Amino acid sequence: MTQTPDLPAFDWPVMEPGWVWLCGAGPGDPGLLTLHALNALRQADVVIFDALVQEAILDWAPQAEHIYAGKRGGKPSAKQRDISLRLVDLARAGKRVLRLKGGDPFVFGRGGEEAQTLVQHNVPVRIIPGISAGIGGLAYAGIPVTHRDVNQSVTFVTGHDQSGAAPSSLDWASISKGSQVLVIYMGMKHAAQIAGHLIGAGRQPSEPVAVVTSATTSDQRVLETTLGTMVDDIAATGMEPPAIICVGRSVLMRQVLDWQGMIAGEAPRDLDPLGRGLPAEIA
Ligand code: SAH
Repeated sequence: MTQTPDLPAFDWPVMEPGWVWLCGAGPGDPGLLTLHALNALRQADVVIFDALVQEAILDWAPQAEHIYAGKRGGKPSAKQRDISLRLVDLARAGKRVLRLKGGDPFVFGRGGEEAQTLVQHNVPVRIIPGISAGIGGLAYAGIPVTHRDVNQSVTFVTGHDQSGAAPSSLDWASISKGSQVLVIYMGMKHAAQIAGHLIGAGRQPSEPVAVVTSATTSDQRVLETTLGTMVDDIAATGMEPPAIICVGRSVLMRQVLDWQGMIAGEAPRDLDPLGRGLPAEIA
C-alpha cells in the first residue's frame, strides 16, 4: 500500500465529521497538490473525485472510501445535482467528506454550485484552492501565462456552455480585442468554431497557439501551431482532451522555456524568441 507522505509540522486544520472540504487536486502531477489537500487526504472518510484526478493522488487516502463522480469511458456523467446532494447525505451521515476536483474547484469546475448547495443545506464547508490547468498546465509546457513583453491581461474562456454547445453567448469580439492572451478550457470539441470566431473578430490567423493535452502528467503533449492552422494540426496529431488551448505571443516563450525538453537534453530553440535583445554578457 502506498505510504501517504508526511506533512511538515504546522497547525493543520482538523477535518471534523459532517464537514465537506471542497478541494482542488491540481492539473495532474501529484506534486502540484497543496499541503492542505494532503492534510485533507490523510483525514477523509470519503473522497468523491472527478475524472481528471490522478489515481496516485487517491492512493494517498488509503483509509477512505473512494467514490467516482465524473465522466469516463462513455458512461453518462453523474448529474451535478445528484453529486451535490450526495455530498449533503454523506455529511449528514457524519462522514468527513473530501470533494476532490481537478485543477482549482472554482475555475470552470462547478465548485461554486456544489459549495452553495452545501451551505444551503447547512453543511459546513472548507474550500481548498488548487493549481488550475490554465496556469500550471501552461507552465509545464514552458509558457508563462503572463509575460511583461506580451500581455497585461489574460482571459480564461470555456469552450462550451452548459448545454455542451460552442459558447455562442460569449462576446467573441470583446474577448478578441480585450486580451492579448486567451486561455481556453474545454476547447477541443469546438476548436473550429472558436478559431473561426477569433479570426472573424480580428485576431490574425498567424497568431501563435499552443495546445497542451494531459498537462503535467506523463502523457502530456504540446502542439505549437497558429490560429489559422490549429484545427488541421490537432486532427493530424490525434491529440485528445483534456486540453488547454493558449492563444497569444506568450506561446513563443516556449522556445526558450521548454524546461521539460531541456531536462530531456534538448537545447533551447531560441534564447530570445520575442526579439527583445540578449543580455550583454551573452550577446
Ligand atoms: N477546475 C479545472 C478545470 C475543469 S474543466 C481547473 O482549474 O483546471 C475541465 C477542463 O480543464 C478540461 O476540458 C481541460 O480544458 C482543462 N484541463 C484540466 N486538467 C487538464 C490537464 N491536465 N491538461 C490539459 N487540460 C486540462
